[in-house]
Amino acid sequence: MIEPDAGSDLAAIRTTTLRDGDVYLLNGQKTFISNGILNDLVIAAAKTSPEAGHKGISPLVVERDMPGYERGRRLEKIGLHAQDTAELFFHNVRVPRDHLLGEEGQGFRYLMEQLPRERLAIAVGAVAAAEAALEQTIRYCREREAFGRPIGALQSVRFTLAELVTEVQIGRVFVDQCMLALNRGELTAETAAMAKWWTTELQRGVCRHAQPTPRSDCARSRAQRQACAGHQAACRCRHSGARSRRGSRGSRGCQY
Ligand SMILES: Cc1cc2nc3c(=O)[nH]c(=O)nc-3n(C[C@H](O)[C@H](O)[C@H](O)COP(=O)(O)OP(=O)(O)OC[C@H]3O[C@@H](n4cnc5c(N)ncnc54)[C@H](O)[C@@H]3O)c2cc1C
Repeated sequence: MIEPDAGSDLAAIRTTTLRDGDVYLLNGQKTFISNGILNDLVIAAAKTSPEAGHKGISPLVVERDMPGYERGRRLEKIGLHAQDTAELFFHNVRVPRDHLLGEEGQGFRYLMEQLPRERLAIAVGAVAAAEAALEQTIRYCREREAFGRPIGALQSVRFTLAELVTEVQIGRVFVDQCMLALNRGELTAETAAMAKWWTTELQRGVCRHAQPTPRSDCARSRAQRQACAGHQAACRCRHSGARSRRGSRGSRGCQY
């Protein structure tokens, strides 16, 4: 879908496809495409009737080896490294007519119909990430000792953990409800958007309070380290030299 000049405003896409006998002639470019490098085929939204605005968009299946279909840069990201994100280019790609997915001109409707499901998929990932971060944090709080006892026994830490456990559970319940609604065919775009927004904020909030990954992972988790409230409070990291917000007090206790 997404192009350099058309993101949220999908009707503004400029990739076009004109009929030429038994083929569609596809021209244009896309960006931020998940698995753009890895894929064997993509479904490209293109305008079959540019004058018809969002009603002129059609989805075409483009295969890896079709002449004129090229992959561009693998874009750099701060996360989600298991999937690449890339630019794609289409120069006079001859796409057979039977590679049209569904009906011509219905692409916008198809894409909008799938948005709740996609939003929910992001919400599911966000809750899972929040749960995992919290689980690791609780484990760390049980293992790490300060002042002769696990830091999880300290009241301020327990307050924070209690709040996080509550919020993560609320997130899980909400997402489960959305999942049931999706299965019944009743999940609305609005509710899915709420779930995506709230759970991704939840994920960020939990990670902000969560402990950093173990010492060996320290170099690649600077953001996580910086986000860690416990770390900020306790130490100066031997890898980054970053001084905690509260100064260097307690630096000898740093594990990360
Ligand atoms: C990791 C990753 C993977 C992706 N994978 C895919 C993929 O596989 N396929 C695909 O098609 N796309 C993909 N995308 C692109 C994604 O769908 C777009 O980033 C998204 O649609 C937003 O478009 P944009 O980035 O061009 O931002 P824009 O839409 O240009 O928005 C720019 C800014 O304007 C704001 N804005 C936009 N509209 C409004 C409005 N109405 N009111 C107020 N503010 C507004 C936005 O919040 C944002 O801050 C991916 C993106 C990422 C980051």
